[in-house]
Amino acid sequence: ATAPAVLEVEGLSAAYGPVRALQDVTLRAEHGRITAVLGANGAGKTTLLRTISGLVRPTAGRVLLGGEDVTRAPVEAMVTKGMAHVPEGRGVIAELTVDENLRVGALFRGKVPSEEFDRVYSFFPRIAERRTQTAHTLSGGERQMLVIGRALLARPKVLLLDEPSLGLAPRIVAQIFAMVRHLVDTEGLSVLLVEQNARSALSVADTGVVLNLGRVVVTDDAARLAGDEDLRHAYLGF
Ligand code: ATP
Repeated sequence: ATAPAVLEVEGLSAAYGPVRALQDVTLRAEHGRITAVLGANGAGKTTLLRTISGLVRPTAGRVLLGGEDVTRAPVEAMVTKGMAHVPEGRGVIAELTVDENLRVGALFRGKVPSEEFDRVYSFFPRIAERRTQTAHTLSGGERQMLVIGRALLARPKVLLLDEPSLGLAPRIVAQIFAMVRHLVDTEGLSVLLVEQNARSALSVADTGVVLNLGRVVVTDDAARLAGDEDLRHAYLGF
């Protein structure tokens, strides 16, 4: 059964000069679901998220958020309309405390009740224990939790997550993915997850979209993709 789409991408193309990074990409992220975009290094996954969130201008195609065409909306408008992008690389502000970093996620909203911060901390107890520490003291996994928590404070309808597993131990990846699943199941969040770690991503996602050289190769139920040995060997590296 298909759920209503929170995010629709239609025929999206993007280029860096002569490099055609995305070609005619169509996909949807459904409400209350995790949609994983998979593919090798250079497949165009990061470019896809950057184009959806307005950081890269598409050469063709459309992006719809809750049915509204936001293709050329400024990045700030995307955030207020309900799109939160957590880029690759866990950009915490190293000199600020965990608590201050979290507050940055809510800056544009004016006054935010303290219960909302408590709620985000309740999802990530490891971060809660470290609220007064400066962010540079955090481990990679803790930084990833912090940037996801910060994005949640924007109260997004759809969360774009770029490669959250990168460089983390499998146990930490499992913890983070389990929390993302929990947020989707209990908070009505919708997630577009970009991952090179296809095995882990497919274990948590509902739907998978495989990208190769900027094009969609296949879109299917995550469990079915994980069970397709030929596809796994050809594109997913496991
Ligand atoms: P990775 O996981 O390694 O980031 P990816 O699937 O996210 O891979 P992209 O980073 O989107 O892939 O890159 C897609 C293509 O666009 C690649 O051929 C890459 O070399 C190229 N590319 C990405 N960023 C730029 C840029 N700023 N300028 C020029 N080419 C770029």
